[in-house]
Amino acid sequence: PIVFLLDVLPADTIIDDADLAATITPAGDGSGVLSVFDLGPARGDGIFETIGVVGRHPQSVEAHLDRLTESAAILDLPAPNHAQWRLAIARAIAELPDVDQSAVRLVVTRGSGGRPTAWISATPADGFPERENGIEVVLLDRGLPSDVQERSPWLLAGAKTLSYAVNMAALREAHRRGADDVLFLSSDGFVLEGPTSTVVVRIGGTFVTPPPSSGILPGTTQLALWAHLEEQGLAHEYRMLTPEDVLDAEAAWLLSSVRLAAPVRAVDGRPLAMDAGLTAQINDALLSRTD
Ligand code: PLP
Repeated sequence: PIVFLLDVLPADTIIDDADLAATITPAGDGSGVLSVFDLGPARGDGIFETIGVVGRHPQSVEAHLDRLTESAAILDLPAPNHAQWRLAIARAIAELPDVDQSAVRLVVTRGSGGRPTAWISATPADGFPERENGIEVVLLDRGLPSDVQERSPWLLAGAKTLSYAVNMAALREAHRRGADDVLFLSSDGFVLEGPTSTVVVRIGGTFVTPPPSSGILPGTTQLALWAHLEEQGLAHEYRMLTPEDVLDAEAAWLLSSVRLAAPVRAVDGRPLAMDAGLTAQINDALLSRTD
């Protein structure tokens, strides 16, 4: 792994490249650089982004930095300096070995003593057989209503926080049930998202995903897919979905930055049609992003 620590800069600081580079320090493989009193590890109090890297190209950087900014606002953390993060991303990627795909992780925690901590790491990413083989998902109740964001903003819906223990526990529950992944449901019965992914289904030729206002994380991969569909003149919309909508869909996928589009093969053991041609087309489009 490749790690750099960042001296957190205010978002509006404009400094020349050499001074900016001096705020980004190599931290070896990241061992021994974090205080045990840091509120990131101590409380999960922080935010992060995972960016897919194809060759040496980081994908949808702008969308990731915009979401990091939104997460920071929701958690009352300082707004990130985009120029600094762009430089940190470039420096981390330059250190990667020659591999097809990698992942870059940006982390900001509440730190300690009132000073936030920030770092970036880069790691080569494995092959992804799920893109062809598909995944089996189980429906799990998240226990929160679909209007949670409006009703209870302190629950931080819509922010990509470091508090992923619940998401990881849901994945373990899926594995216990013999499945690969999870589709979370709201307490009022709507389909939300996966623990690390956005759900997209195709119904009557239209691609549909739940609206971000339903308390989910707005997906950068789903946004990139929407741009591709727009270009291709294919119908796409945000709409609340029920489990029945997913079961009756022509096809369904879980989308995320590194795994990209994984077709859903079954929901709670009930088989779903997989469209291999369309899935390949979607992943080709996602892999060939230039933004
Ligand atoms: N929803 C959640 C809860 C996630 O953690 C993620 C990504 O990790 C996504 C959706 C998909 O977002 P993206 O496509 O930007 O990776």
